Amino acid sequence: MSDSICGQAAPRRRSRQVRIGKVLVGSDAPVVVQSMTNTDTADAIATAIQVAQLARAGSEVVRITVNNEEAARAVPAIREQLARMNVDVPLVGDFHYNGHKLLTDVPECAEALAKFRINPGNVGAGTKRDPQFASIIEIACKYDKPVRIGVNWGSLDPSVLARIMDENAGRAEPLDATAVMREALVTSALESAAKAESYGLPGDRIILSAKVSSVQDLIAVYRDLARRCDYPLHLGLTEAGMGSKGIVASTAAMGVLLQEGIGDTIRVSLTPEPNGSRTQEVVVAQEILQTMGLRAFTPMVTACPGCGRTTSTFFQELASRIQNHVREQMPIWREQYDGVENMTLAVMGCVVNGPGESKHANIGISLPGTGETPAAPVFVDGQKTVTLRGGNIAAEFQAIVDDYVAT
Ligand code: SF4
Repeated sequence: MSDSICGQAAPRRRSRQVRIGKVLVGSDAPVVVQSMTNTDTADAIATAIQVAQLARAGSEVVRITVNNEEAARAVPAIREQLARMNVDVPLVGDFHYNGHKLLTDVPECAEALAKFRINPGNVGAGTKRDPQFASIIEIACKYDKPVRIGVNWGSLDPSVLARIMDENAGRAEPLDATAVMREALVTSALESAAKAESYGLPGDRIILSAKVSSVQDLIAVYRDLARRCDYPLHLGLTEAGMGSKGIVASTAAMGVLLQEGIGDTIRVSLTPEPNGSRTQEVVVAQEILQTMGLRAFTPMVTACPGCGRTTSTFFQELASRIQNHVREQMPIWREQYDGVENMTLAVMGCVVNGPGESKHANIGISLPGTGETPAAPVFVDGQKTVTLRGGNIAAEFQAIVDDYVAT
């Protein structure tokens, strides 16, 4: 593993490269943003609608649960619905316990999916469920599909854990309980991958993940995985939680790993607020990658936090309006204007940091604070171009942004 150097992330860890439909994962491919639906997959229309929402928000791969025969039979219909909506995003089937049966009984499902995700905790290689694991790998080989072997703290293969505990008991200096769990997770992932290769799945069709819900455990487990294999790694803090807790925990864990060059795909697993948007996890994942300078998805708006020098909530409203505007426009702008996602914007609350920060952005506006002249200078590529006044500042500034993009 390479060390990060001051001011930039370490070079990406070298890995094999895996193709998920049209999306490349690993090696020098960009870190891919993934998400997962929470609809009943058997409801093909509802699932296709949510997949489309996630894809339009920026999810480059979308996972759907395939938990029963109705869900498996719905997968080709979901693909058809997506084609009608002009949405071309790889679908990953999430299988537990009965994946071997569903993929065998419903071959159209196997064909329509771009990847299978299996959990060694419930179709474990080397356990009494080995034939089920072997059957899924055989189907993946038959249909040329990659497989993510995704181990999870909450459903760790008990036979692997028991073996690691036995081995640990015989050590001169036994590991503590947390280290034993971490070792069991990594061992389960690596042994399952080796078993899959022994059953004929090429190594460049395997992605690994080992999700836990603690930040420090996630970092330790992925550092170990990264050191011990060259499969691409999917990062995610499982059960990250709701709202700011989930965002902060996911960012803290993934930020450290990404800075070290570890991680080829990411998912931010947020528990949505009741009636909250499922697409929030996609936006957060994009923002993690973009704020770290690893990818660019949409123009970023810099805004100061505001303080006693701000005269009203207008500057927060303007920052929010501009951020929402650029997000809404991006699907169109991306098609028309190369590099627009790298644009930077600043909306600042007073003269203290306003002009300075605005000059660093492609377009910035410094709104008047307490006691300042009611005027808002606008800076374009570091130069003051106009000063806005009056009640139409928001619309005029938005028009300046639109003109800049179009020229
Ligand atoms: Fe306060 Fe001005 Fe700084 Fe914004 S730029 S936080 S309004 S001092």
